[in-house]
Amino acid sequence: MTNITVDPGPTPKTLLGPGPSNVHPRVYKAMTSPVLSHMDPEFWDIMDETVDLLREVFQTSNGLTLPISGTGSAGMEAALYNALEPGDTILVGVTGFFGSRIVDIAERCDAKAINISSDWGETIEPERIEEALNKHPDTKVVALVHCETSTGILQPLEEIGEIVRAHDALFLIDAVASLGGQDLPVDRLGIDICYSGSQKCLSCPPGLAPITMSQRAIEIVKNRTNPSRSWYLDLSMLDEYWISARKYHHTAPVSMIYALRESLRILAEEGLEHSFSRHHTNAEALRAGVLAMGLDLIANDKVQSDTVNGIRMPDGVDADQVRMALLNDYKIETGGGMGPFKGKAIRIGLMGYSSQQANVLAVLSALEAVLTNLGVEMPGSAGVSAANLVFNEQY
Ligand SMILES: *Cc1c(COP(=O)(O)O)cnc(C)c1O
Repeated sequence: MTNITVDPGPTPKTLLGPGPSNVHPRVYKAMTSPVLSHMDPEFWDIMDETVDLLREVFQTSNGLTLPISGTGSAGMEAALYNALEPGDTILVGVTGFFGSRIVDIAERCDAKAINISSDWGETIEPERIEEALNKHPDTKVVALVHCETSTGILQPLEEIGEIVRAHDALFLIDAVASLGGQDLPVDRLGIDICYSGSQKCLSCPPGLAPITMSQRAIEIVKNRTNPSRSWYLDLSMLDEYWISARKYHHTAPVSMIYALRESLRILAEEGLEHSFSRHHTNAEALRAGVLAMGLDLIANDKVQSDTVNGIRMPDGVDADQVRMALLNDYKIETGGGMGPFKGKAIRIGLMGYSSQQANVLAVLSALEAVLTNLGVEMPGSAGVSAANLVFNEQY
């Protein structure tokens, strides 16, 4: 007989990486609610409330708004597999790793992907999109990543929606690392398709990808020559389960929907504006702290997001070693550098429930201790003091 011992479970950690973020305690509690059938009218009421709350977070009146079963990348596939047919042209703004993933998926749809890329840490100017659209007038979709998690930039979206619409294309936004943490008024910005993920600014576990689609986009999808190549992510069929009829498609991940509904209720109680300013103040304090420690950020400061911060490590310091020390010695999760910043930077996410004053002070003091132990000289407590000044101004 095997010896059964009580498993204490995974160690609780402070999740300050580029996702997942810490889960709100009320969300964990909601997940222990009894599982109902996905065809139970009592569950349908929960679905309806979830969809209404999602429309508020996306700041949209789009009918087709629902959570895709799967992580953020499933939202990306749902957006692209429904919008694109073989031979279609898509313009993709590539400012880092996730823009490249959009290109990869678009090519798997047998679409022609045209890259408009920026240096890592920079964003794409609206003029470059207009130029590309003039050069490729048959473009069907223009895709951009709002917060590019690999560098921490926030792509400005003003003006671009109008340009895209004037060229009769669809405007597609990846908001996996921004929805709920940064202002993203989908309707006002003229965004046609927008998707996100449950585990970043929405304080849920990974497993759902909220998506919304404008009427214009729905018409285009409806008039496809062939149905979407993905049956599971076919939005017209998902619409028939979630919105227009209660027609069975696939078994909804019931407990995750309880989780999402609870997290959206928490966000509604806080208020979107308050959530944005909380994310902003905590990110400002973190950045004031790391700059005071003599460190630099990856992103150009004019386009720095409030959700993910890429921080360069001093020359000669192995960033992955810093990351592992934060994790092992302080139980603080951060992300590693990607692309040109691999081994040279760490990424600190302050998203959803993880965006808290106490977490900012904890990670700054832990980072100071780790770097000091690695022989980096820095003025004692400079980071915490600088962050504290920001908090004292704000609260
Ligand atoms: C995290 C992330 C994704 C991928 O989401 P998964 O949940 O890992 O599938 C896509 N885009 C952006 C901008 C992200 O930050």
